Amino acid sequence: MNNCRVCGHERSTSEIRCLECGEFYPTIAELIAEEEAYEAAHSFRGHYQKILDAPDRKQALLAELKQFAAGLSTRAWFTLFVIFVFVFALVITVL
Ligand SMILES: [Zn+2]
Repeated sequence: MNNCRVCGHERSTSEIRCLECGEFYPTIAELIAEEEAYEAAHSFRGHYQKILDAPDRKQALLAELKQFAAGLSTRAWFTLFVIFVFVFALVITVL
């Protein structure tokens, strides 16, 4: 973090406040907490934990799946479709 996150003013390592706007620079502990929060919000484990912690797990799972589906591109959908068809074809030939 070499710039102030509020005004973008370049910081030197010895300063604890921004010279331009007076904003305090984040401490290491704050940065780690921020990183952990980001990890929890974006990793698979974080999503899984969110579903487990929700009072209504089924509803939480549906909401997560809906969010996942909304984030997929057409190409990703096509890839999933091809994989599904391929597995389906394999299962059919075995049966
Ligand atoms: Zn600043």
